[in-house]
Amino acid sequence: MKYLKPISIKRTKPFLLYCEWQDGFSGTIKLETFRNECPCALCKGEEIAGKQVAKPIFQMMTPGKNDLKSLEPVGNYALQASWGDGHNTGIYTWEYLREIFEKFSLSAKQLEELMDK
Ligand SMILES: [Zn+2]
Repeated sequence: MKYLKPISIKRTKPFLLYCEWQDGFSGTIKLETFRNECPCALCKGEEIAGKQVAKPIFQMMTPGKNDLKSLEPVGNYALQASWGDGHNTGIYTWEYLREIFEKFSLSAKQLEELMDK
């Protein structure tokens, strides 16, 4: 599982997050997406045996919600994200991070459009 740890993480724009892995895979996603995919129980709801039993309560738009304040390593297995609205319970494991980037990475065309902003 060690190879899933990214070799580079940077913000290429205030609203874009870039990640690169040892195997050559890289991608850029919107911070908005990164926040929406926050894996904590508040955002995703509690799952028991694959069934959602608690409704997410963090779905509303709060000031600073998609403003990433920091990404701190947790041990050697994950990153903890802190957001402008004070939310910081999301722990993104290397595996989950890679999953998000494989799923939501922007296309070259989308990036080009965003880079003009
Ligand atoms: Zn969360």
